[in-house]
Amino acid sequence: MSAWECGIVDCGIVFDTVEALLAHQVTDHASHECEICGGHVPEGYFAIKHAFHKHTRAEYVRFYDADAAAVRRRERILDAVTTAVDPAALDDQLDDADRAPPTDDGGTNLLSP
Ligand SMILES: [Zn+2]
Ligand SMILES: [Zn+2]
Repeated sequence: MSAWECGIVDCGIVFDTVEALLAHQVTDHASHECEICGGHVPEGYFAIKHAFHKHTRAEYVRFYDADAAAVRRRERILDAVTTAVDPAALDDQLDDADRAPPTDDGGTNLLSP
């Protein structure tokens, strides 16, 4: 089993499972306000997923002042997490944390502070 390190600035906590990492990012970090649409999404993986799935790469580069290397790095993170994550296990983790899991419906299910 590989270790998953939280990539959020100044965090770096390591988890045994990707589901534990994602639950940590949702519950322990403040939500991220999308620079493109202004929607609030959980920080970390979900913020990347939102930016790359709801918006285009071109928008991401423009609004986040990102370069091609930054885009590729995030695509690799998305790939790695998407491949490894077990949605049912993630739901369990998020239920344990007593929070509604993020949805893919464009951010209407916002997390309350
Ligand atoms: Zn963290
Ligand atoms: Zn957005």
